Amino acid sequence: MEVTDKNGWIISEDVFKTEFNHTNESIFSLGNGYLGMRGNFEEGYSGETTEGTYINGFYEIENIHYDEACYGFPNKSQTMLNIVNSKYIKLYINEEEFDLDRGELIEYKRSLDCREGILNRELKWKSPKGKIINLNIQRIVSFNNKNLAVIQYSVTPINFSGIVKIVSAMDWRANNASAGNDPRIGSSIKGSPFIVENKVFDKNSYGILMKTKKSNFLLGSAIMNDIVTDCTYDRYKIEEDMLLGESFQINAFEGREIKLNKYIAYVDSKSDEQKDVIERAIDVSIKGREKGFEQLKNEQVMFLREFWNNSDIEINGDVDLQKAIRFNMFQLLQSTGVDGKTNISAKGLTGEGYGGHYFWDTEMYILPFYLYTNPEISRKLLEYRFNILDKARQRAREMSHEKGALFPWRTIDGGECSSYFLAGTAQYHINADIAYAVKKYMETTGDIEYLIRYGAETLFETARIWADIGFFNSAKENKFCINGVTGPDEYTAMVDNNFYTNLMARENLKYAYEVAILIKDKYREEYSRIMEKIELDECEIEVWKNAADRMYIPYSKEKDIFMQDDSFLAKEVWDFENTPKEKYPLLLNYHPLVIYRYQVCKQADTILGLFLLGNMFDKEQKRKNYDYYESITTHDSSLSECIFSIVANEIGYKEKAYSYFAKTAGMDLYNYKGNTKHGLHTASMAGSWMCMVHGFGGMRINNGQLEFSPYIPNEWNNYSFRVKINNALIMVRVYKDKVEYELLKGKEIAIQHFDKKLTLELGVTLAV
Ligand code: BGC
Repeated sequence: MEVTDKNGWIISEDVFKTEFNHTNESIFSLGNGYLGMRGNFEEGYSGETTEGTYINGFYEIENIHYDEACYGFPNKSQTMLNIVNSKYIKLYINEEEFDLDRGELIEYKRSLDCREGILNRELKWKSPKGKIINLNIQRIVSFNNKNLAVIQYSVTPINFSGIVKIVSAMDWRANNASAGNDPRIGSSIKGSPFIVENKVFDKNSYGILMKTKKSNFLLGSAIMNDIVTDCTYDRYKIEEDMLLGESFQINAFEGREIKLNKYIAYVDSKSDEQKDVIERAIDVSIKGREKGFEQLKNEQVMFLREFWNNSDIEINGDVDLQKAIRFNMFQLLQSTGVDGKTNISAKGLTGEGYGGHYFWDTEMYILPFYLYTNPEISRKLLEYRFNILDKARQRAREMSHEKGALFPWRTIDGGECSSYFLAGTAQYHINADIAYAVKKYMETTGDIEYLIRYGAETLFETARIWADIGFFNSAKENKFCINGVTGPDEYTAMVDNNFYTNLMARENLKYAYEVAILIKDKYREEYSRIMEKIELDECEIEVWKNAADRMYIPYSKEKDIFMQDDSFLAKEVWDFENTPKEKYPLLLNYHPLVIYRYQVCKQADTILGLFLLGNMFDKEQKRKNYDYYESITTHDSSLSECIFSIVANEIGYKEKAYSYFAKTAGMDLYNYKGNTKHGLHTASMAGSWMCMVHGFGGMRINNGQLEFSPYIPNEWNNYSFRVKINNALIMVRVYKDKVEYELLKGKEIAIQHFDKKLTLELGVTLAV
C-alpha cells in the first residue's frame, strides 16, 4: 500500500508573523533521531528566537546546587546541548543584508512536507533600497545518513544585476537557554560548555572540532559548500571569533538563479565511540556532496514512504486533524533515537524544555506507537533501558535497596537528574512502567531472543524494588502495601498505596514471576546465567508471586471508586470555581504544598491505570471513576487529555472523547499549552496516535486476542489506521456504515470485531 495523496501532508505558514516565529521554530523542526535542527531561518532572526541544533543524548554535566541538600539527592545533572549552528547562511545584496524584519516581504511561504521530510521556504523580498530577490530554500535532515543535513539555497535577482554575497558558515555563538522561573525550561549552564580544539580545511570542506568541558565528549561539524551558477564569483575563507566558513562574492545578473548546496555534517564521540570525529565529519560532508542534493532528496522520500506505509492514519472529513495526526507521527520519528543507546526526550530534538531528558513518557505514551507500527524501534527503546541498568542498580543502592534497579525519573545517560524528589525519584512507578512495556512488547512480537538477552533481567531487577519497598501490612489484612511514593499525578506527592503504582507494581511482580518460570522451564542455561549474574535467589521469585497475589488496591466503598491513594479522598477538593483561568497551570502559580493539600490532579493517574490494565475492570467501574476524577483534573500536564479521550471512548462519552482528542492532536500545531516554543510535546503527540487506535479504533490485546471496537465520530466521513502485530500488517478502515479489515502483509491472523471472530487472509478485505 502506498500513500499517494498529497493533501493533508503539509504544514504551512503563508504569512510571516513575528509573534508566531518562536513557536513555529519548534513546529518546523527537522530531525532524524540523532540530529535535530529547529526551524530557524538560515540567516538568523533578530526577534524572539531559540537558535537550536541538538544531538540526541549529547550532553554536558551540570552540578546541581542545593542550599539544603540531603543524603541521596543527585548532585549532577545532564543537559542536552545546543551545539554549533552549521546551517548558518547570510545573504547580502550590494551590502544590504537580507533580514525578514527589514525591507518588504512581498511573498512568503514556509512549509513542512511530512510525507517527504523536507522543509521549504519560498519568498520574494524587497530590500530597503528597492532590490527584489526570489529565495527558495529547501532543507533536509537525512534519515539515511544520521550525520548529514543538506540545504539548497537558491537566490534569483528580480530587478537588478549586481553583487550578491552569500556567507555560509558554522556559528557557535548559541548556547542553551538559561533557567527562568518555569521549572520546565532552561539549564544552569553558564557560557559556552565547549572548548574549540581544532579547525580544519580539507578538500573544500571546513571542519570544527569541539570538546565539552565536563563530560569530555568530542563534537565535529563540517560544511561543504557547492555553488552552482553561471555567474562569475570569488570565494573567501571567513574566520571570526566563533564563526568559520566561507563567503561567495557573486557578480549576479537579473533573472539568473544562483544555487548553493550546503552539505552539513555532525559526528560525535559519545554516540559513535570514536575519536576521529572531525575527519569523519569532513568525510560525511564530502560524501554528501558526491551524492548531491537531488539524490539525497530522493533517498529521504523513499525512506519515509516505507515509514508511512507502516504507520499512516487517514482522517477524511477534517483536514486540520488529518494534518495534525501526521505531523505528530512525523515529528515523533524525527526525535526518536534508534540505536539502543539513546531514547526520546520530553521535547524530542525540537527544543530545550526538560533539558533533553527521557522520562516514563517513552514507555507509557510513545512506545505503543512504535510497537504497533515499527516494532524494531520499540525494541531499541527497551534496549536503551537495559543499557542503563547498571546505573539504575547504582541508584537503587543509593536509595538503600540492597538488590534490584531503580530507574531514574529523568535522565540522559542513566543517572538520576531530578532535583525535586517529590515529583522525581519518588515516582517509583517508572520501574513498573518499563516492565509493562516489556510485557506489551513480548505480547506483540514474541521476541524471545530479546526477552532472554535483555527483558528478563530488566523485569527481575525492577520487581526486586517492589519486593523491597512494599510489605505485608497487618493493619490492612496482610495485604502488600507500598508506602511513600508519588504516582503519575504530580499535584499529589509522597503518598501511601497510590492506586496506579500498586496496580502496575502488581503486574511487574506477576510478569517477572511468570518469565522466571518460563525461562527456568525452557531455557535452563540462560536461566542459570541470569540467576548467577544478578545473584537472584529462587525464594525471591516466590515473594514476587505472593506480593502480587496480595497486592493492596485502595478502594472507597462509600464512593464506590478506587482511591488515588490512601489519603486522597480525605482531602478537601480544590476550589475550582474561584480559580481564575490565568492561575493555570497551577504549578506556575501555587507552591506545591498548597496544591498537595487538595484533591486536584495535574493528569490522568487512576484513569491511566484503568486504561492500561483495562480488562481487569468493567465499564461501570470505569465510568464511575472517570466521572469522579475528570471533575478534579486540570490537565495541566500534556500527558493527560489523551488518556481521558481513550477511556471516554470506551465508556461511551463520545463527545468528550472527540474534544480531548482534538486538544491532544493539535496541542503543538495550535499551541494549546502556550509553550510550544520550548519544544514539541512528544508524549502527547504519541497520545494522539493512541487516541486514534486505542480510542476510536478500540484496539486492545486481551489474553493474546487482538480486538477492535471501532467508532466513527459524526464529524468524519471515514478514517483508517494500520497496525502491525506479530509481523502481520493490518489495515482498518472505518466508515459510517461498515468497517473493513485488510491484511496487507504477513500470515493469516485471527481478530475480533466487537464480539465477532474473524480471520484475516492476505489480499482479502473483510467488511463488517
Ligand atoms: C508530567 C510528567 C512528565 C513530564 C515530562 C510533567 O509535566 O507531569 O508526567 O513525565 O512532564 O513530559
